[in-house]
Amino acid sequence: MSTHETPTPTNFIHAIIEADLASGKHASVVTRFPPEPNGYLHIGHAKSICLNFSTAQKYGGRCHLRFDDTNPVKEDIEYVESIQADIRWLGFDWEEHLYFASDYFPKLYECAITLIERGKAYVDSLSADEIRAYRGTLNEPGQNSPYRDRSVAENLDLFARMKAGEFEEGTHILRAKIDMASPNMNLRDPALYRIRKAHHHRTGDAWCIYPMYDYAHSISDAIEGITHSICTLEFEDHRPLYDWCLESLDWPQPRPHQYEFARLKLTQTLMSKRYLLKLVQEGLVSGWDDPRMPTLSGMRRRGVTAASLRMLCDRVGVAKSNSEVDFGLLEFCLREDLNKVAQRRMAVLDPLKVVITNYPEGQFETFEAENNPEDPEGGHRPLLFGRELYIERNDFMENPPKKFFRLSPGQETRLKHAYYITCQEVIKNEAGEVVELRCTYDPDSRGGWTNDGRKVKGTLHWVSAAHARTAEVRLYEHLMLNADPDLPFEEQLNPNSLTVIEALIEPALAEAKPGDLLQFLRQGYFCMDPDSTPDRPVFNRTVGLTDTWAKMAKNMQPSA
Ligand code: ATP
Ligand code: MG
Repeated sequence: MSTHETPTPTNFIHAIIEADLASGKHASVVTRFPPEPNGYLHIGHAKSICLNFSTAQKYGGRCHLRFDDTNPVKEDIEYVESIQADIRWLGFDWEEHLYFASDYFPKLYECAITLIERGKAYVDSLSADEIRAYRGTLNEPGQNSPYRDRSVAENLDLFARMKAGEFEEGTHILRAKIDMASPNMNLRDPALYRIRKAHHHRTGDAWCIYPMYDYAHSISDAIEGITHSICTLEFEDHRPLYDWCLESLDWPQPRPHQYEFARLKLTQTLMSKRYLLKLVQEGLVSGWDDPRMPTLSGMRRRGVTAASLRMLCDRVGVAKSNSEVDFGLLEFCLREDLNKVAQRRMAVLDPLKVVITNYPEGQFETFEAENNPEDPEGGHRPLLFGRELYIERNDFMENPPKKFFRLSPGQETRLKHAYYITCQEVIKNEAGEVVELRCTYDPDSRGGWTNDGRKVKGTLHWVSAAHARTAEVRLYEHLMLNADPDLPFEEQLNPNSLTVIEALIEPALAEAKPGDLLQFLRQGYFCMDPDSTPDRPVFNRTVGLTDTWAKMAKNMQPSA
């Protein structure tokens, strides 16, 4: 379908697509997202997903989801399933276009035979060490393998026997016959097929030879009619091999073309699946969906929204050179979104008891508290008030500095949605610690305001002692102190990345459901965790409220 309205290009890939559509090189746009099912998706993948799916959407084309499942040793069905769930959660849909590179194994095998017949591939029987030695270095050309000039017949025979399982792993490989002196190491007779006597999660034991990534990728793209094969910069030097495969097979035009963009890197965040797998395997996190993980499932559990991730990817843009994005930009996008959708609630994380001495014992009253001032449809919830309350310990100071507008002896302050109160007396234990405050309230300040125009500068959150429930609250810091991929992560794990506290929450919070997004007034955004039970709700802090990034980010233009 070439039903695209000519939108203006927003990045260099869109500019190329528009030129291709205008020149008639391609009638429509077909992209793909090609994850290897060897781990859970992380926020870097979100960048690629957003780019591939939204590019196809923009030009009225389609985007395929293709599992690049050519390495049976590391792959698993659990990953296949989590990847699909994560892409759907991000808001994208491949419709009927779900593919597996393993479905192409017969075709890939046929193509390999064609290459052998054309004298463009040969079976090499050097050992892995010898192959490395023959390969040369960046400064020295490689040497031809003594097996490079095997006859077509001999190559066909050996390759068939490789497939039949006659040889052990590492004894033979199929290589492209290109140029051992090429300045591009990827063209020094790269491997096309290797023997792996491993069970594959889809093809079982049908195959014991498996195609290499570059070979399988170009042909899979071509089989599916991909027009623009978008990948990250580290594949730039592989592009000549991608083209060589299709050229050597005389693949009909139009062929797919590979384009490279800069991967998303975030400060203080390690994204490589290899690292993430190690964290999981060594039990240093609770799993792939630990809320400290940069995986999509971890972020979702933490309370990060799909909309905020899409906003981040949009703002970062599509660049041709690598750079690092400040983690604060993600937090900014997150606050923008959560401010609109999160229901407001009150929770006290470090409780200090308050007794309102002029409020009758055994009396309670109900206030109507708005759920979200940003949402006119947000509705209200009942909030119970009584003689005994809890406030946040650090909202009281016995000897406050100037401009401390919260509670201190003699100073009037507001309890959100309720009354003005004034602290009259401070009760301490034997150690001299403040354990209770005796306050009075002003009955004329019902709802948190007065008719006499009297103003107070501070507003505190609180919970009613008789109605509050306890909850487990998990506070997070960055998992990594440095996020340096060259340091062993044992040396850079942040010992304070998780703090668990017990908090007092208003009753309405106990009714939340796992996944619900909430703002605890003055404390930040939180998300109810699936570990919650009816007796013990559990909340993850998603992000705090203060936003030093807001000003910077508002002035920032997308970098594309
Ligand atoms: P990792 O390096 O984290 O292990 P990967 O690149 O091996 O990831 P794949 O499953 O091969 O993971 O990736 C699927 C797609 O996602 C590829 O096209 C890859 O280029 C893209 N991708 C992976 N990481 C990033 C990133 N940080 N930014 C943008 N795209 C990414
Ligand atoms: Mg990869």
